[in-house]
Amino acid sequence: MEKLKYERPVITKINAGMPDKFGMKSKHRIINKIDNVSVNDLLKEYGSPLFIISEKKIRDTYNEAYRAFSTRYPKVQFAWSYKTNYLDAVCKTFHKLGSWAEVVSGFEYEKALANNVNGGEIIFNGPSKSKEELIKAIKNGSMIHIDHFDELYTINEISNEIDEKPKVAIRVNMDCGIYPMWDRFGFNYENGEAWSAIKRIMLNNKLELVGLHTHIGTYITSVSAYQVAAGKLAELTALIDNVYQHKLKYIDLGGGFASKNTLKGAFLPGVDTCPSFDDYADAITTALINSTIDHNHMPLLILETGRALIDEAGYLAGTVVANKRLTSGRRAVILDTGINLLFTSFWYDHQICPTTENTQHAEDTTMYGPLCMNIDCVRDHILFPSMEKGDTIVIPRIGAYNMTQWLQFITYRPNIVMIDTTGKTHIIRKKEDLSVFKNQETVPLHLK
Ligand SMILES: *Cc1c(COP(=O)(O)O)cnc(C)c1O
Repeated sequence: MEKLKYERPVITKINAGMPDKFGMKSKHRIINKIDNVSVNDLLKEYGSPLFIISEKKIRDTYNEAYRAFSTRYPKVQFAWSYKTNYLDAVCKTFHKLGSWAEVVSGFEYEKALANNVNGGEIIFNGPSKSKEELIKAIKNGSMIHIDHFDELYTINEISNEIDEKPKVAIRVNMDCGIYPMWDRFGFNYENGEAWSAIKRIMLNNKLELVGLHTHIGTYITSVSAYQVAAGKLAELTALIDNVYQHKLKYIDLGGGFASKNTLKGAFLPGVDTCPSFDDYADAITTALINSTIDHNHMPLLILETGRALIDEAGYLAGTVVANKRLTSGRRAVILDTGINLLFTSFWYDHQICPTTENTQHAEDTTMYGPLCMNIDCVRDHILFPSMEKGDTIVIPRIGAYNMTQWLQFITYRPNIVMIDTTGKTHIIRKKEDLSVFKNQETVPLHLK
Protein backbone atom coordinates (compact mmCIF):
# COMPACT_ATOMS: atom_id res chain seq x y z
CA MET A 1 0.00 0.00 0.00
CA GLU A 2 1.27 3.44 -0.89
CA LYS A 3 2.17 5.66 2.02
CA LEU A 4 -0.40 8.42 2.48
CA LYS A 5 0.71 11.85 1.38
CA TYR A 6 1.63 14.28 4.13
CA GLU A 7 -0.80 17.11 4.43
CA ARG A 8 0.44 20.23 6.10
CA PRO A 9 -1.89 21.10 9.02
CA VAL A 10 -3.74 24.37 8.63
CA ILE A 11 -6.14 26.26 10.78
CA THR A 12 -8.86 27.80 8.69
CA LYS A 13 -11.40 30.28 9.82
CA ILE A 14 -14.94 29.05 9.48
CA ASN A 15 -16.93 31.71 7.73
CA ALA A 16 -20.37 31.76 9.22
CA GLY A 17 -21.65 33.24 6.00
CA MET A 18 -24.42 32.18 3.70
CA PRO A 19 -24.49 28.49 3.00
CA ASP A 20 -25.34 27.59 -0.54
CA LYS A 21 -28.61 25.77 -1.04
CA PHE A 22 -26.88 22.43 -0.61
CA GLY A 23 -25.45 23.38 2.79
CA MET A 24 -21.87 24.21 3.71
CA LYS A 25 -20.15 21.16 2.28
CA SER A 26 -17.62 22.03 -0.37
CA LYS A 27 -17.58 19.93 -3.49
CA HIS A 28 -14.77 19.95 -5.98
CA ARG A 29 -15.57 19.05 -9.51
CA ILE A 30 -12.69 17.08 -10.97
CA ILE A 31 -12.07 17.33 -14.71
CA ASN A 32 -9.45 14.89 -15.91
CA LYS A 33 -10.90 14.12 -19.32
CA ILE A 34 -12.54 16.18 -22.04
CA ASP A 35 -14.50 14.08 -24.54
CA ASN A 36 -12.63 11.05 -23.17
CA VAL A 37 -9.23 12.59 -23.90
CA SER A 38 -6.92 12.90 -20.90
CA VAL A 39 -6.22 16.53 -19.98
CA ASN A 40 -2.77 15.69 -18.65
CA ASP A 41 -1.87 13.93 -21.91
CA LEU A 42 -2.97 17.03 -23.83
CA LEU A 43 -0.87 19.28 -21.58
CA LYS A 44 2.15 17.02 -22.08
CA GLU A 45 1.75 17.07 -25.83
CA TYR A 46 0.77 20.70 -26.46
CA GLY A 47 2.20 22.53 -23.44
CA SER A 48 0.63 24.47 -20.60
CA PRO A 49 -1.45 26.59 -20.62
CA LEU A 50 -3.68 25.18 -23.34
CA PHE A 51 -7.09 26.08 -24.75
CA ILE A 52 -9.20 23.05 -25.63
CA ILE A 53 -12.35 23.15 -27.75
CA SER A 54 -14.81 20.28 -28.05
CA GLU A 55 -16.32 20.04 -31.52
CA LYS A 56 -18.91 17.61 -30.18
CA LYS A 57 -20.07 20.11 -27.57
CA ILE A 58 -20.44 22.83 -30.21
CA ARG A 59 -22.53 20.51 -32.35
CA ASP A 60 -24.69 19.29 -29.49
CA THR A 61 -25.33 22.83 -28.22
CA TYR A 62 -26.15 24.15 -31.66
CA ASN A 63 -28.53 21.27 -32.35
CA GLU A 64 -30.27 21.85 -29.03
CA ALA A 65 -30.71 25.57 -29.77
CA TYR A 66 -31.85 24.98 -33.35
CA ARG A 67 -34.33 22.37 -32.22
CA ALA A 68 -35.79 24.69 -29.57
CA PHE A 69 -36.57 27.38 -32.15
CA SER A 70 -37.36 25.32 -35.25
CA THR A 71 -39.97 23.23 -33.45
CA ARG A 72 -41.80 26.42 -32.43
CA TYR A 73 -41.48 28.61 -35.52
CA PRO A 74 -41.52 27.77 -39.23
CA LYS A 75 -38.39 29.58 -40.47
CA VAL A 76 -35.28 29.89 -38.29
CA GLN A 77 -31.72 30.85 -39.14
CA PHE A 78 -28.70 31.19 -36.85
CA ALA A 79 -25.86 33.56 -37.76
CA TRP A 80 -22.58 32.90 -35.94
CA SER A 81 -21.39 35.93 -33.98
CA TYR A 82 -17.76 36.18 -35.07
CA LYS A 83 -16.57 38.39 -32.24
CA THR A 84 -17.58 35.74 -29.68
CA ASN A 85 -14.98 33.34 -31.11
CA TYR A 86 -13.57 33.84 -34.59
CA LEU A 87 -11.15 30.96 -34.74
CA ASP A 88 -11.62 29.61 -38.26
CA ALA A 89 -12.18 26.03 -37.04
CA VAL A 90 -14.95 27.24 -34.71
CA CYS A 91 -16.61 29.39 -37.38
CA LYS A 92 -16.38 26.56 -39.91
CA THR A 93 -18.03 24.17 -37.47
CA PHE A 94 -20.98 26.57 -37.15
CA HIS A 95 -21.12 27.16 -40.91
CA LYS A 96 -21.13 23.40 -41.54
CA LEU A 97 -24.09 23.17 -39.16
CA GLY A 98 -25.91 25.76 -41.29
CA SER A 99 -25.09 29.04 -39.57
CA TRP A 100 -24.65 32.26 -41.50
CA ALA A 101 -22.01 34.77 -40.34
CA GLU A 102 -22.65 37.86 -38.18
CA VAL A 103 -19.75 40.31 -38.26
CA VAL A 104 -19.13 43.72 -36.70
CA SER A 105 -16.01 45.00 -38.49
CA GLY A 106 -14.18 44.97 -41.80
CA PHE A 107 -11.71 42.46 -40.32
CA GLU A 108 -14.47 40.04 -39.32
CA TYR A 109 -16.12 40.55 -42.71
CA GLU A 110 -12.89 39.49 -44.44
CA LYS A 111 -12.61 36.50 -42.12
CA ALA A 112 -16.14 35.36 -43.02
CA LEU A 113 -15.39 35.65 -46.76
CA ALA A 114 -12.14 33.72 -46.27
CA ASN A 115 -14.20 31.02 -44.53
CA ASN A 116 -16.15 30.74 -47.81
CA VAL A 117 -19.35 32.21 -46.45
CA ASN A 118 -21.52 33.39 -49.31
CA GLY A 119 -21.78 37.22 -49.31
CA GLY A 120 -25.57 36.88 -49.15
CA GLU A 121 -25.24 35.00 -45.88
CA ILE A 122 -23.19 37.61 -44.03
CA ILE A 123 -24.88 40.07 -41.68
CA PHE A 124 -22.83 43.24 -41.25
CA ASN A 125 -23.53 44.85 -37.86
CA GLY A 126 -21.72 47.44 -35.80
CA PRO A 127 -21.45 51.19 -35.32
CA SER A 128 -18.30 51.71 -37.40
CA LYS A 129 -18.25 50.56 -41.02
CA SER A 130 -16.08 52.50 -43.46
CA LYS A 131 -17.45 53.55 -46.85
CA GLU A 132 -15.07 51.09 -48.56
CA GLU A 133 -16.26 48.25 -46.31
CA LEU A 134 -19.89 49.14 -47.01
CA ILE A 135 -19.33 49.19 -50.78
CA LYS A 136 -17.65 45.81 -50.66
CA ALA A 137 -20.45 44.29 -48.53
CA ILE A 138 -23.18 45.82 -50.72
CA LYS A 139 -21.53 44.46 -53.89
CA ASN A 140 -21.42 41.02 -52.25
CA GLY A 141 -25.15 41.19 -51.50
CA SER A 142 -24.66 41.11 -47.71
CA MET A 143 -27.25 42.37 -45.24
CA ILE A 144 -26.24 45.77 -43.87
CA HIS A 145 -27.67 46.54 -40.44
CA ILE A 146 -27.67 50.33 -40.17
CA ASP A 147 -26.66 51.69 -36.77
CA HIS A 148 -27.19 55.47 -37.11
CA PHE A 149 -28.37 58.17 -39.52
CA ASP A 150 -24.85 59.04 -40.68
CA GLU A 151 -24.44 55.47 -41.86
CA LEU A 152 -27.81 55.64 -43.64
CA TYR A 153 -26.68 58.80 -45.48
CA THR A 154 -23.42 57.08 -46.53
CA ILE A 155 -25.44 54.16 -47.88
CA ASN A 156 -27.74 56.58 -49.73
CA GLU A 157 -24.62 58.12 -51.26
CA ILE A 158 -23.26 54.69 -52.25
CA SER A 159 -26.62 53.73 -53.79
CA ASN A 160 -26.17 56.57 -56.30
CA GLU A 161 -22.66 55.48 -57.19
CA ILE A 162 -23.02 51.74 -57.79
CA ASP A 163 -25.50 49.47 -59.55
CA GLU A 164 -26.22 47.02 -56.74
CA LYS A 165 -29.27 47.76 -54.63
CA PRO A 166 -28.14 47.74 -50.97
CA LYS A 167 -30.02 45.23 -48.79
CA VAL A 168 -30.50 47.01 -45.48
CA ALA A 169 -32.09 46.56 -42.09
CA ILE A 170 -32.01 48.90 -39.13
CA ARG A 171 -30.87 48.06 -35.67
CA VAL A 172 -33.58 49.04 -33.20
CA ASN A 173 -32.99 49.74 -29.51
CA MET A 174 -35.90 49.75 -27.11
CA ASP A 175 -37.08 49.58 -23.55
CA CYS A 176 -37.70 45.94 -22.81
CA GLY A 177 -37.01 46.07 -19.12
CA ILE A 178 -33.22 45.68 -19.33
CA TYR A 179 -31.33 48.55 -17.72
CA PRO A 180 -29.11 50.29 -18.47
CA MET A 181 -30.67 50.27 -21.92
CA TRP A 182 -28.26 49.74 -24.80
CA ASP A 183 -29.45 52.87 -26.60
CA ARG A 184 -26.02 53.69 -27.97
CA PHE A 185 -26.60 51.22 -30.82
CA GLY A 186 -29.26 51.66 -33.45
CA PHE A 187 -32.45 53.71 -33.58
CA ASN A 188 -34.83 54.05 -30.67
CA TYR A 189 -38.26 52.47 -30.86
CA GLU A 190 -40.16 54.49 -28.24
CA ASN A 191 -39.21 57.99 -29.39
CA GLY A 192 -40.02 57.33 -33.05
CA GLU A 193 -36.44 57.42 -34.28
CA ALA A 194 -36.70 53.87 -35.66
CA TRP A 195 -39.87 54.68 -37.59
CA SER A 196 -38.28 57.83 -38.94
CA ALA A 197 -35.27 55.81 -40.21
CA ILE A 198 -37.65 53.30 -41.81
CA LYS A 199 -39.47 56.14 -43.61
CA ARG A 200 -36.20 57.53 -44.97
CA ILE A 201 -35.24 54.09 -46.26
CA MET A 202 -38.66 53.49 -47.83
CA LEU A 203 -38.44 56.89 -49.59
CA ASN A 204 -35.22 55.89 -51.34
CA ASN A 205 -36.19 53.36 -53.98
CA LYS A 206 -32.54 52.50 -54.47
CA LEU A 207 -32.48 50.76 -51.08
CA GLU A 208 -34.21 47.52 -50.18
CA LEU A 209 -35.42 47.24 -46.58
CA VAL A 210 -35.09 43.52 -45.90
CA GLY A 211 -35.43 43.24 -42.15
CA LEU A 212 -35.33 44.60 -38.63
CA HIS A 213 -32.65 43.89 -36.06
CA THR A 214 -32.14 44.29 -32.33
CA HIS A 215 -29.55 43.07 -29.84
CA ILE A 216 -30.84 43.99 -26.42
CA GLY A 217 -27.71 43.19 -24.41
CA THR A 218 -25.62 40.26 -23.32
CA TYR A 219 -26.03 37.61 -20.62
CA ILE A 220 -29.74 38.45 -20.40
CA THR A 221 -31.40 36.00 -18.02
CA SER A 222 -34.86 37.51 -18.45
CA VAL A 223 -36.78 35.73 -21.20
CA SER A 224 -39.62 38.24 -20.93
CA ALA A 225 -37.26 40.96 -22.22
CA TYR A 226 -37.00 38.95 -25.44
CA GLN A 227 -40.75 38.61 -25.58
CA VAL A 228 -41.12 42.39 -25.37
CA ALA A 229 -38.36 42.97 -27.95
CA ALA A 230 -39.82 40.46 -30.42
CA GLY A 231 -43.25 42.02 -29.91
CA LYS A 232 -41.98 45.51 -30.70
CA LEU A 233 -40.12 44.41 -33.84
CA ALA A 234 -43.24 42.51 -34.92
CA GLU A 235 -45.36 45.66 -34.50
CA LEU A 236 -42.97 47.62 -36.71
CA THR A 237 -43.03 44.81 -39.28
CA ALA A 238 -46.83 44.89 -39.40
CA LEU A 239 -46.83 48.69 -39.61
CA ILE A 240 -44.42 48.67 -42.58
CA ASP A 241 -46.74 46.22 -44.33
CA ASN A 242 -49.80 48.40 -43.58
CA VAL A 243 -48.28 51.69 -44.61
CA TYR A 244 -46.07 50.62 -47.53
CA GLN A 245 -47.46 47.18 -48.45
CA HIS A 246 -43.88 46.04 -48.03
CA LYS A 247 -43.16 42.65 -46.49
CA LEU A 248 -39.95 42.22 -44.56
CA LYS A 249 -37.88 39.10 -45.15
CA TYR A 250 -36.68 38.73 -41.58
CA ILE A 251 -36.69 39.75 -37.95
CA ASP A 252 -33.31 39.40 -36.24
CA LEU A 253 -33.38 39.16 -32.44
CA GLY A 254 -29.59 39.35 -32.06
CA GLY A 255 -27.74 37.47 -29.33
CA GLY A 256 -27.46 37.85 -25.58
CA PHE A 257 -28.70 34.53 -24.20
CA ALA A 258 -26.91 33.74 -20.94
CA SER A 259 -24.42 30.92 -20.63
CA LYS A 260 -24.15 28.79 -17.52
CA ASN A 261 -21.30 30.82 -16.01
CA THR A 262 -21.82 32.49 -12.64
CA LEU A 263 -21.63 36.27 -12.57
CA LYS A 264 -19.54 37.81 -9.81
CA GLY A 265 -21.75 38.55 -6.83
CA ALA A 266 -24.53 36.19 -7.92
CA PHE A 267 -26.07 34.20 -5.08
CA LEU A 268 -26.93 31.08 -7.04
CA PRO A 269 -24.67 29.38 -9.57
CA GLY A 270 -25.30 30.16 -13.26
CA VAL A 271 -26.18 26.52 -14.00
CA ASP A 272 -29.29 27.01 -11.84
CA THR A 273 -30.33 30.47 -13.05
CA CYS A 274 -29.59 30.35 -16.78
CA PRO A 275 -32.78 29.91 -18.86
CA SER A 276 -32.81 27.06 -21.37
CA PHE A 277 -32.97 27.52 -25.15
CA ASP A 278 -36.56 26.30 -24.88
CA ASP A 279 -37.40 29.13 -22.47
CA TYR A 280 -35.94 31.78 -24.80
CA ALA A 281 -37.52 30.18 -27.87
CA ASP A 282 -40.91 30.07 -26.20
CA ALA A 283 -40.82 33.76 -25.31
CA ILE A 284 -39.66 34.95 -28.73
CA THR A 285 -41.82 32.76 -30.93
CA THR A 286 -44.92 33.38 -28.80
CA ALA A 287 -44.52 37.12 -29.34
CA LEU A 288 -44.11 36.71 -33.10
CA ILE A 289 -47.00 34.31 -33.51
CA ASN A 290 -49.35 36.45 -31.40
CA SER A 291 -48.44 39.63 -33.27
CA THR A 292 -50.46 41.23 -36.05
CA ILE A 293 -48.01 40.10 -38.75
CA ASP A 294 -49.84 38.45 -41.66
CA HIS A 295 -49.59 34.71 -40.94
CA ASN A 296 -49.13 33.97 -44.64
CA HIS A 297 -45.95 36.05 -44.64
CA MET A 298 -44.15 35.27 -41.42
CA PRO A 299 -40.62 36.64 -41.61
CA LEU A 300 -37.56 34.47 -41.19
CA LEU A 301 -36.43 34.52 -37.53
CA ILE A 302 -32.68 35.16 -37.29
CA LEU A 303 -30.68 34.61 -34.09
CA GLU A 304 -27.12 35.81 -33.56
CA THR A 305 -26.51 33.78 -30.41
CA GLY A 306 -22.83 33.83 -29.41
CA ARG A 307 -21.99 33.16 -25.79
CA ALA A 308 -24.67 30.53 -25.15
CA LEU A 309 -23.53 28.44 -28.13
CA ILE A 310 -19.79 28.31 -27.48
CA ASP A 311 -19.04 28.95 -23.80
CA GLU A 312 -19.56 25.34 -22.74
CA ALA A 313 -17.38 23.96 -25.56
CA GLY A 314 -14.21 25.77 -24.45
CA TYR A 315 -11.79 24.83 -21.66
CA LEU A 316 -8.57 26.38 -20.43
CA ALA A 317 -6.12 23.90 -18.91
CA GLY A 318 -3.15 25.06 -16.87
CA THR A 319 -0.64 24.29 -14.17
CA VAL A 320 0.00 25.39 -10.60
CA VAL A 321 3.19 27.46 -10.64
CA ALA A 322 3.47 28.05 -6.89
CA ASN A 323 1.73 28.11 -3.53
CA LYS A 324 2.07 31.18 -1.36
CA ARG A 325 1.01 32.45 2.01
CA LEU A 326 0.06 36.14 2.04
CA THR A 327 0.93 38.32 5.03
CA SER A 328 -2.66 38.02 6.21
CA GLY A 329 -2.22 34.27 6.48
CA ARG A 330 -4.37 33.77 3.45
CA ARG A 331 -3.50 31.07 0.99
CA ALA A 332 -2.66 32.07 -2.57
CA VAL A 333 -1.95 30.00 -5.66
CA ILE A 334 -0.20 31.17 -8.80
CA LEU A 335 -1.48 29.59 -12.01
CA ASP A 336 0.01 29.89 -15.49
CA THR A 337 -3.42 30.99 -16.76
CA GLY A 338 -4.00 34.65 -16.01
CA ILE A 339 -6.43 37.36 -17.00
CA ASN A 340 -4.41 37.71 -20.22
CA LEU A 341 -6.06 34.45 -21.34
CA LEU A 342 -9.18 34.74 -19.24
CA PHE A 343 -10.60 38.16 -19.85
CA THR A 344 -14.02 37.01 -18.71
CA SER A 345 -12.69 36.55 -15.17
CA PHE A 346 -13.43 40.27 -14.77
CA TRP A 347 -17.15 39.47 -14.60
CA TYR A 348 -17.45 35.73 -13.98
CA ASP A 349 -16.49 33.67 -10.95
CA HIS A 350 -14.96 30.95 -13.07
CA GLN A 351 -14.98 27.43 -11.76
CA ILE A 352 -11.44 26.04 -11.39
CA CYS A 353 -11.24 22.26 -11.31
CA PRO A 354 -8.32 20.05 -10.27
CA THR A 355 -7.53 17.18 -12.63
CA THR A 356 -6.96 14.72 -9.78
CA GLU A 357 -8.64 14.03 -6.48
CA ASN A 358 -5.79 14.50 -4.04
CA THR A 359 -7.37 15.72 -0.82
CA GLN A 360 -10.72 16.43 0.74
CA HIS A 361 -9.27 19.40 2.56
CA ALA A 362 -10.03 22.78 1.08
CA GLU A 363 -9.10 26.29 2.02
CA ASP A 364 -10.30 29.69 0.97
CA THR A 365 -7.78 30.72 -1.64
CA THR A 366 -6.89 33.60 -3.94
CA MET A 367 -5.95 32.52 -7.46
CA TYR A 368 -3.42 34.64 -9.28
CA GLY A 369 -2.18 34.41 -12.84
CA PRO A 370 1.44 34.55 -14.02
CA LEU A 371 1.60 38.25 -14.93
CA CYS A 372 3.80 40.69 -13.05
CA MET A 373 0.82 42.94 -12.60
CA ASN A 374 -1.43 43.43 -9.60
CA ILE A 375 -4.68 43.12 -11.58
CA ASP A 376 -3.87 39.55 -12.57
CA CYS A 377 -6.26 37.82 -10.22
CA VAL A 378 -8.41 35.01 -11.61
CA ARG A 379 -10.45 34.44 -8.42
CA ASP A 380 -10.45 36.66 -5.30
CA HIS A 381 -11.63 33.77 -3.23
CA ILE A 382 -12.42 30.20 -4.04
CA LEU A 383 -12.62 27.21 -1.75
CA PHE A 384 -9.86 25.12 -3.22
CA PRO A 385 -8.14 21.85 -2.27
CA SER A 386 -4.43 21.80 -1.49
CA MET A 387 -2.39 21.42 -4.62
CA GLU A 388 1.30 21.25 -5.28
CA LYS A 389 3.49 22.98 -7.79
CA GLY A 390 3.10 21.17 -11.11
CA ASP A 391 -0.44 19.95 -10.41
CA THR A 392 -2.84 20.72 -13.21
CA ILE A 393 -6.25 22.37 -13.39
CA VAL A 394 -9.04 22.91 -15.89
CA ILE A 395 -11.22 26.00 -16.15
CA PRO A 396 -14.41 24.96 -17.94
CA ARG A 397 -16.95 27.11 -19.83
CA ILE A 398 -14.59 29.66 -21.32
CA GLY A 399 -15.33 29.30 -25.05
CA ALA A 400 -16.96 32.74 -25.42
CA TYR A 401 -14.94 35.94 -25.79
CA ASN A 402 -11.66 34.73 -24.22
CA MET A 403 -10.05 33.68 -27.50
CA THR A 404 -10.92 37.04 -29.06
CA GLN A 405 -10.54 39.47 -26.15
CA TRP A 406 -7.33 37.88 -24.85
CA LEU A 407 -4.43 40.19 -24.27
CA GLN A 408 -1.06 39.77 -25.87
CA PHE A 409 0.53 41.01 -22.71
CA ILE A 410 3.79 39.78 -21.17
CA THR A 411 3.50 36.20 -22.46
CA TYR A 412 2.96 34.44 -25.79
CA ARG A 413 -0.52 33.16 -26.47
CA PRO A 414 -0.66 29.36 -26.14
CA ASN A 415 -1.79 26.56 -28.43
CA ILE A 416 -5.47 25.99 -29.04
CA VAL A 417 -6.56 22.46 -29.85
CA MET A 418 -9.88 21.10 -31.01
CA ILE A 419 -11.02 17.59 -30.14
CA ASP A 420 -13.07 16.35 -33.09
CA THR A 421 -16.11 14.12 -32.80
CA THR A 422 -13.96 10.99 -33.13
CA GLY A 423 -11.69 12.04 -30.25
CA LYS A 424 -8.79 13.13 -32.46
CA THR A 425 -7.05 16.37 -31.49
CA HIS A 426 -5.94 19.08 -33.91
CA ILE A 427 -4.00 22.28 -33.30
CA ILE A 428 -6.32 25.01 -34.59
CA ARG A 429 -4.15 27.97 -33.55
CA LYS A 430 -0.51 27.47 -32.81
CA LYS A 431 1.40 28.94 -29.92
CA GLU A 432 2.98 32.27 -30.67
CA ASP A 433 6.74 32.72 -30.67
CA LEU A 434 9.16 35.56 -31.24
CA SER A 435 8.75 35.36 -35.03
CA VAL A 436 5.14 36.61 -34.72
CA PHE A 437 6.51 39.85 -33.30
CA LYS A 438 9.52 40.03 -35.60
CA ASN A 439 7.11 39.86 -38.55
CA GLN A 440 5.13 42.86 -37.38
CA GLU A 441 7.84 45.13 -36.03
CA THR A 442 10.55 47.16 -37.73
CA VAL A 443 13.37 49.11 -36.15
CA PRO A 444 14.36 52.41 -37.80
CA LEU A 445 17.75 52.20 -39.50
CA HIS A 446 19.50 54.56 -37.09
CA LEU A 447 18.67 52.25 -34.16
CA LYS A 448 19.86 49.04 -35.74
C1 LIG B 1 -21.93 40.53 -29.60
C2 LIG B 1 -23.11 40.45 -30.46
C3 LIG B 1 -23.84 39.25 -30.58
C4 LIG B 1 -23.55 38.02 -29.74
O1 LIG B 1 -23.90 38.28 -28.42
P1 LIG B 1 -23.89 37.14 -27.28
O2 LIG B 1 -24.21 37.88 -26.04
O3 LIG B 1 -22.52 36.55 -27.26
O4 LIG B 1 -24.92 36.12 -27.64
C5 LIG B 1 -24.89 39.23 -31.47
N1 LIG B 1 -25.23 40.33 -32.18
C6 LIG B 1 -24.56 41.49 -32.08
C7 LIG B 1 -24.98 42.65 -32.88
C8 LIG B 1 -23.49 41.60 -31.21
O5 LIG B 1 -22.84 42.76 -31.11
